[in-house]
Amino acid sequence: MQRFNTPFVYTSAQSRVVFGAGSIDFLTRELDQLGLNKVLIVGTAGQRAFNEELRLKLGGRIVACFSEAVMHTPVSVTNEAMSIVESHQVDGVVAVGGGSSIGLSKAIAFRTGLPQVVIPTTYAGSEMTAILGETENELKVTKSDPKIRPKVVIYDVNLTTGLPVAISVTSGMNAIAHAVEALYAHDTNPVIATLAEEGVRSLVKALPLIAANPEDLDGRSNALYGAWLCGICLGSVSMAIHHKLCHTLGGTFNLPHAETHTALLPHALAYNAGHTPQAIERLRRALDTISPAQALYDLAKKLGAQMSLKELGMPEEGIQKATELAFKNMYPNPRTLEPEGVKVLITHAWQGKRPL
Ligand code: NAD
Repeated sequence: MQRFNTPFVYTSAQSRVVFGAGSIDFLTRELDQLGLNKVLIVGTAGQRAFNEELRLKLGGRIVACFSEAVMHTPVSVTNEAMSIVESHQVDGVVAVGGGSSIGLSKAIAFRTGLPQVVIPTTYAGSEMTAILGETENELKVTKSDPKIRPKVVIYDVNLTTGLPVAISVTSGMNAIAHAVEALYAHDTNPVIATLAEEGVRSLVKALPLIAANPEDLDGRSNALYGAWLCGICLGSVSMAIHHKLCHTLGGTFNLPHAETHTALLPHALAYNAGHTPQAIERLRRALDTISPAQALYDLAKKLGAQMSLKELGMPEEGIQKATELAFKNMYPNPRTLEPEGVKVLITHAWQGKRPL
């Protein structure tokens, strides 16, 4: 039974979610409800063919497709998209794809206030947040504003069956990282903790099914559902050392987002584990293990993920730089941040070691 000895705050976010296989068929209805008639579709190069097809299907209300979104949302790419928004007098944005596509639509919404309908096809969770991370001059800067949050999210499981297993695994670990940090957030609450535990449980069951058969609809549905719950966690409470480090490593060394989360998460959790008994209790239940940090490492490794930041392209001298950056703009974390401890955490992730 839960004990409610500590007062808490829960703020629910305003976004409409349409979930299920084939739910992209409701896109026209959603655009009608928002009254959008001059829509820009955005995505990464990988979504280009799909987005052009979607444009044909939706007819004249789609005024342009822009498929140049890339990871970490560089401001230079947003500026290119903004010139299309202005020249076509766009009145809404549809994003199809992962966090890179959604990052670009959020960057447009932040500048214009335009409504977004987003169709996530990875497990990154960006669609559930009012946060935008933009990169300029090798620095990734985070902005938070209610207009960044998408108005409508369409989770169509059918659009995820083509997501390669390697990306599915790391993207799923990225989602799990949101839940892990939500469980020990200084502003967590019982509602978010319940969603986080269920999100982790759903994803750890789903990922091995997807690795065995990427078209397994049970695996795909559970992964997308878990990713949604973990995305709510990310959008609702404060993240701590793990997200701070991933953010720094991504922006400073241009490391791949989901892969970096995967390699770092077991070590960030191990760093905090002794200081957050409630989070560990929930993770033990969700993962069915007594050692959540090691279990996450073992799961990701077994499913083929690269567990070494060195192999992901981080230079060894980056360990010191990342340690120093971790102490800029301080933030709450369950365990006090100690330079030596943080350096060891990063070093172990760089080496790809199993956490102790
Ligand atoms: P991504 O969007 O770059 O996608 C990874 C690759 O998978 C891309 O090449 C893409 O084309 C491809 N892909 C996507 N869906 C596919 C599908 N269904 N089938 C085949 N290929 C597919 O990667 P990501 O990890 O989803 O997102 C990373 C970005 O999102 C980073 O920039 C990160 O900072 C941002 N992000 C932001 C938030 C937030 O709240 N602001 C949260 C999470 C991630």
